[in-house]
Amino acid sequence: MLQLDTRLSISLSRASELKDTIQDYLKIKDHIPTGFTTFEQFLQQKERILTAFQASEHNWQDWKWQISNRITTAEQLAQFIPLSEKKIADLNTIGKRFRWAISPYYLAVMDWNNPDDPVRLQAIPQIQELQDEKGELDPMGEEYSSPAPGITRRYPDRLIINVTNQCAMYCRHCQRRRNIGTIDRHLALDQLEQALDYIRKNPEIRDVLITGGDALLLSDSRLDWLLTELDRIPHVEIKRIGTRALVTLPQRITPELAAILEKHPPIYINTQFNHPREVTPEAKQAIDRLIKAGVVLGNQAVLLRGINDNPHVMKKLNQELLKVRIRPYYIFHPKKVLGTAHFSVPITTGIKIIDQLRGQTSGLAVPQYIVNAPGGLGKIPVSPDYAKVIAKDHAILRTWENKLIKIEF
Ligand code: SF4
Repeated sequence: MLQLDTRLSISLSRASELKDTIQDYLKIKDHIPTGFTTFEQFLQQKERILTAFQASEHNWQDWKWQISNRITTAEQLAQFIPLSEKKIADLNTIGKRFRWAISPYYLAVMDWNNPDDPVRLQAIPQIQELQDEKGELDPMGEEYSSPAPGITRRYPDRLIINVTNQCAMYCRHCQRRRNIGTIDRHLALDQLEQALDYIRKNPEIRDVLITGGDALLLSDSRLDWLLTELDRIPHVEIKRIGTRALVTLPQRITPELAAILEKHPPIYINTQFNHPREVTPEAKQAIDRLIKAGVVLGNQAVLLRGINDNPHVMKKLNQELLKVRIRPYYIFHPKKVLGTAHFSVPITTGIKIIDQLRGQTSGLAVPQYIVNAPGGLGKIPVSPDYAKVIAKDHAILRTWENKLIKIEF
């Protein structure tokens, strides 16, 4: 073994090399806004919304108040955000084709003075939605993988129940915008019964994802009933819930809802934070409540042009999520959904992001990058090319720092 001072000198030199590799992120990271660093602005905007609605803090914390006071017209929106006459006309035109609605909470999260704000871009329609000629309404072929009402089945041991088309906000990049329609509707009870029957009759199904729309927009009693019925099916081992309520309607996570979820373990909730600005103190309160109830939380971000198609923003997002105890799980490549082409990015962008996360930050902050195969053929994990050569007796692999190493078998 080398002398102590030589070992120390090598270690110091390596530590200094590692320090150098993170300098570009350190320079930028404090300039990427989060829901915590912009909380003052949030509070001021929230106050203005409450005044305009003549509402109280009590109303604000009531998720049903949030839903019934969603902003759905350009005229309402213009009370809060400076909008040109053209933008107002555009919003009215787009609204006739693609419905939009923004919860008062999510309105308070965005930056009212910045038209390029990443939160705003997810919520306020842009005229490009009507100029997309390549997108399809159902690129995933979900309509062709539904063996029973409300069910989507694309894998051997798991399936989805789509329990509602309602969401607190209609995200402009939504892959299920074909379901949004013009009115909110939950799956009828008899259809839910048929979906449950399908699960009962197929014993290989061990994992059920309850989603929508937003699954947490079901009433407490309907959710409790559904989770109880699933618990009664011996082969259902885990329940998952797909919701964006933590991002767009954290008020939905009431103590009563948390108590219901706590009765039905194991429950996994996957949500969709796309930008660190969405990780707010109000969201954290809701997250804490879920974690206390024993719910395991994961994030499925969607890679979106102008919102998070940047390695530094994605790193910050994932690090902020870990701080509030949400595990970054997937980054989805955006699908070719009609009206969303302006958010699309090449696959190379996603690969570059993963390449710049791996090694540069904890593995916990590196989600899997997923491209969904068209036609319902499932998720394809896509990674940077770490394996350069795989031969019978050796492999040449690339490290996160681009060093090639040879492994002999
Ligand atoms: S919450 Fe999900 S389902 Fe609802 S509009 Fe947003 S992306 Fe679509």
